[in-house]
Amino acid sequence: MYFHIITSIDCNSECRYCYKKSCDDFGNDLNKTFKFDFSMPARIKYSIEQLKQFLARSKTRHTLTFYGGEPLMDIEKIKEIMDNVDARYMMQTNGKLLDKLPKEYINRFELMLISIDGDKKLTDFNRGEGTYDKVISNISLIRKNGFKGELIARMVVDEHSNVFESVNHLFSTGFDAVHWQLDAGFYQQDFKQRNFKEFSKKYNSEVSGLLDYWLNEMKKGKVLKIYPFLGIFESLYYSKTEKLRCGSGFANYTIAPDGKISVCPIMHDATVFQVGDILKDNPDNLKQIFVEEPCTSCDIYGLCGGRCLYANKASLWPKEGQDLICFTVRHLIDAIRTKLPEIRALISEGKITETQFSYEKYTGPEIIP
Ligand code: SF4
Ligand code: SF4
Repeated sequence: MYFHIITSIDCNSECRYCYKKSCDDFGNDLNKTFKFDFSMPARIKYSIEQLKQFLARSKTRHTLTFYGGEPLMDIEKIKEIMDNVDARYMMQTNGKLLDKLPKEYINRFELMLISIDGDKKLTDFNRGEGTYDKVISNISLIRKNGFKGELIARMVVDEHSNVFESVNHLFSTGFDAVHWQLDAGFYQQDFKQRNFKEFSKKYNSEVSGLLDYWLNEMKKGKVLKIYPFLGIFESLYYSKTEKLRCGSGFANYTIAPDGKISVCPIMHDATVFQVGDILKDNPDNLKQIFVEEPCTSCDIYGLCGGRCLYANKASLWPKEGQDLICFTVRHLIDAIRTKLPEIRALISEGKITETQFSYEKYTGPEIIP
């Protein structure tokens, strides 16, 4: 089982699409849709022994992903957990404090998702002056100190982005993989302020350009780890269907600072998403929660997976906006499908191998952007 461990609700950044938009969205209807547990402490209140006992109720070796806020705001707790709990470790971080965690811990992580949006101009615009340089310097430091795990650049894409250029740029800076999330459907007030229709057309054309580039690199024997492509490619290539691709609600859970277990890390304090407690539950028997309509009757549900459980339940955008998001999902799937014959041929010729498409399935965020 995969668990996000929220070590700190606090964050040391005030990003435009997270902190700022959350403030701007104050007064949305989420309080009517969900009941929130406002007693959530900012830092972990359960003991390491309680965490160990919970995880040991299952025979599986779990994967723990540190998450926040910014997880490195409580470095001592991360060290304490890693010193005491046998697990696979991953982390989602903004990367600004990576130089503060000693290398003997850093080098035990199998994978890190680091928030960065593209080049310096875009990243600093979104995430604050100096962010880009700090993150790039920290990833170069951890590599120098022997970190051999996978480094995934985790971008947020919106009207200010060019996904083609940003992905190319991030591969040139030393990231092993790139993942992006569309800033779409996560806030209520922004749809009417944006021209998402225009954006979705521009975005789709950038995705098409990126797919051409992906295929051209394959012709040279290289499969770039572009997570939104890998997941869908796998389903199409092996004719498989998928449930929600982030695994939230059935394979991927979150342990909030008070020990409550939630299905989604960003909604750990909404009671509808809380499905247990580390004090009494067993990791193998946690309640499962799945997306509902309109996804369950959608013709591409088995390929999309429903995009995001939170967005599905919160339903913050009007139907027109939700349809536009689905338009981007359809484009992504169709565009990958058109490349399938050429990719199959490259695999048959031995130019590339199936194993080059392998990826960590539940890294945490949205495999469908
Ligand atoms: S395309 Fe849209 S409606 Fe269909 S499953 Fe995905 S998110 Fe749901
Ligand atoms: S995709 Fe949605 S449900 Fe899944 S982790 Fe992200 S916010 Fe939560």
